[in-house]
Amino acid sequence: MKLSLRSPRPTRTAVAIASVATGMALTVPSLALAAHSGQSVPAPPANPTSASQIQNIDQVKTAIKGYYGDTVSSTVIAPGTDPQAANPTYIHTFDPDGAYAHEVEAIAAKAGKTLATHHKRTADKAILFDVDDTTLNTYSYEIFSNFVYNPATNANFVMAADPQVFPAVPGMVGLEKKAEAHGYDVYFLTGRPLAQAGATVANLQAAGYDVNPEHLFTKDATAKSEPWLASCIVPDPANPGQTKFGCSTIQYKSMTREHIESLGVDIVANFGDQFSDLKGGFADSTYKIPNPMYYLP
Ligand SMILES: [Mg+2]
Repeated sequence: MKLSLRSPRPTRTAVAIASVATGMALTVPSLALAAHSGQSVPAPPANPTSASQIQNIDQVKTAIKGYYGDTVSSTVIAPGTDPQAANPTYIHTFDPDGAYAHEVEAIAAKAGKTLATHHKRTADKAILFDVDDTTLNTYSYEIFSNFVYNPATNANFVMAADPQVFPAVPGMVGLEKKAEAHGYDVYFLTGRPLAQAGATVANLQAAGYDVNPEHLFTKDATAKSEPWLASCIVPDPANPGQTKFGCSTIQYKSMTREHIESLGVDIVANFGDQFSDLKGGFADSTYKIPNPMYYLP
């Protein structure tokens, strides 16, 4: 009896393990798909009626640091701070073997496979990348600023043009190389101002990207060098007689993609960490890159 009872047990155990393994196999791709489509934790309501509807901000910051794998540099001093200080301010970096790195590497790998098998064989096919947190990672600045953007301190980090400060987003240099090998032209489109164009090219190149400076589009708030944005220049009600750049990010970016495509380029894939990078058309497909650090409407 004991032997006959024992015999089925390993079988049932094996079945149980197999079904657990199957469940995991089903779960992992669905998680990957969720990340690929940019689904995220629902945002809290704009007008909460109870604190229970809102995440605790310190716990969110702790989770972000855990996701990136927060690491304090022992060598790289924060741009714009005093390197001679008794206790210099060292930047924080992400762990190249952390959850963030693995997630973006998986998205880049999947995109690379899709681009390699793309059915269109047009001569002018292209891909388009955003810069901050799509091709260059700005975790160091978010920690330095405690997640509060300041144009002046941010400019110190940008103008350093240092890949130790803003390194490549994991997987994205390899994705660019693979796309180029399959005949794609590469464009970069960023909300960074025109004055930061040179530093942006330098940082991207130092981080390993191939960059044609004529294929990098920064925001000219006067629209003088980007005449397709002329309709963005509108009267500024706060300063009578003056004008301002009145277009949203979605408008600025989609109008610029429209301009690029008007030159005979087919943007096959558009990569961005913000939904405002991806809305507004003029791309055959979009890829949302993870960024839980900030939201740009
Ligand atoms: Mg970005």
